[in-house]
Amino acid sequence: MTGEQQIPETLADEWAWNAAGRLIPRSVDVAIIGGGIVGCSAAYFLARQGVAVALFEKGRIAGEQSGRNWGWVRQQGRSPIELSLMIESLGLWQELQRNLGEDTGFRQGGSLYLAEDTVQLAELAEWLEVARAHGLDTRMLSGSELDGVLRSGGRWAGAMYTASDARAEPGRATPAIARGAARAGAQIVSQCAVRGIERAAGRVQSVVTEQGVVRAPVVVCAAGAWTRMLCRSLGITVPQLTVLGTVARTAPATQLLEGEAWSPRIAIRRRIDGGYTVAHGSSSVHSLTPATFRFAAKFLPALRQGHKSLRLRFGREFFEAMAEPARWPLDAPSPFERRRILDPAPEAGVLAEMREALRQWFPEIAGAPFVESWGGMIETSPDVLPIISDVEGLEGFVVATGFSGHGFGIGPGAGRLIADMVRGRADPDEVSAFRLDRFFDGSPIRPGPAL
Ligand SMILES: Cc1cc2nc3c(=O)[nH]c(=O)nc-3n(C[C@H](O)[C@H](O)[C@H](O)COP(=O)(O)OP(=O)(O)OC[C@H]3O[C@@H](n4cnc5c(N)ncnc54)[C@H](O)[C@@H]3O)c2cc1C
Repeated sequence: MTGEQQIPETLADEWAWNAAGRLIPRSVDVAIIGGGIVGCSAAYFLARQGVAVALFEKGRIAGEQSGRNWGWVRQQGRSPIELSLMIESLGLWQELQRNLGEDTGFRQGGSLYLAEDTVQLAELAEWLEVARAHGLDTRMLSGSELDGVLRSGGRWAGAMYTASDARAEPGRATPAIARGAARAGAQIVSQCAVRGIERAAGRVQSVVTEQGVVRAPVVVCAAGAWTRMLCRSLGITVPQLTVLGTVARTAPATQLLEGEAWSPRIAIRRRIDGGYTVAHGSSSVHSLTPATFRFAAKFLPALRQGHKSLRLRFGREFFEAMAEPARWPLDAPSPFERRRILDPAPEAGVLAEMREALRQWFPEIAGAPFVESWGGMIETSPDVLPIISDVEGLEGFVVATGFSGHGFGIGPGAGRLIADMVRGRADPDEVSAFRLDRFFDGSPIRPGPAL
């Protein structure tokens, strides 16, 4: 986008042509690293408030998690710690759908957590208290009541249902937000990795991109699964691990529901093309890396909770991660340029299990072929909650990561919060819940090598 821009003569001084002939700003108020939904939403809200902002994406907008997810925009089942932000985010999704001038696929069709038996149903019902405390429309449905929301719902013992929950199309939503940000004045620069950050006297000075240096007193690191690596090069420890999810989409098929439904074995979401985005309800793979062992103690509670659905794998990834540099020169291609897009292969075994579960639980759509399948690397924090935080010891640096498999829905809310933090307008109580130093006794910047 930026490359095609004409520079008004009066602004010429503010811009530099780099060796590749692309145009990037020389100086901005805020530089954002990462063109996922979090970075793009932050750029959108900042630009609309008149802040000079540039976003750098090493690959393409929404090329990683934000374009590969299930497309659920849900409040149901969330931790009370992030629920208020999610409720706000739902309102922002409505506004974005109205104001962006293009269809993000946002539809409020409700979300269902399905129970195969009464034990599961009782477990689900435990969350109702949280829903009530937040004034949500969540309710329990018996098998026969479910029929009104999900065709042939009587197969299930019942469900938890939130009618106000929504869905959106990952392939459309983040690019639409990026275009909205660009219209509001943000510079969106894709195919441009940030190699690192220059700092002086304990504050950020500039980002060093593969296209040149851009001065910025504030840098937002919304680099998804790459955040740990980038932050580590700055001496900042971000406890983050990744798990692989496998997803498929079907050809158009009979309409079973308006929104989305999850059970431990299968999850489906209605798509605007009339097909379904399908995934296993509880299967993910974590490839062991040295980081697994470094952060094992912090992740132990999450690992214990997810042990039934998480499979551990030891292989190539371990040795690749061993070879990963902790630091690199900023005047030569960095690891971010060597791997523009994380595009892991989907797991054939999981796809087969999904097909089988469709046959058992949703036979009406089981005949629809999978027209596409893909893998998505999900990054997660130890408490499975976002990190949206400044960093003690590095003034002007904001980390926004750790969305732990549910950052698509909350992305616009996170973007609004980041914009408020950058402008010094955020509510300290809201900010404190997401601080990075909740995982440490002291500052995450430590003398010696970061983890
Ligand atoms: C399979 C799967 C299913 C999911 N399902 C859901 C769901 O249904 N609902 C939900 O709410 N959430 C879901 N999620 C989670 C959600 O997709 C993520 O939490 C969210 O997209 C995170 O957004 P992000 O902007 O933080 O990161 P990302 O979308 O990963 O974006 C980070 C970007 O930063 C770029 N980058 C990294 N380093 C650099 C650098 N040095 N320079 C320039 N650019 C850089 C990357 O290329 C990437 O594009 C799912 C995720 C997956 C993978």
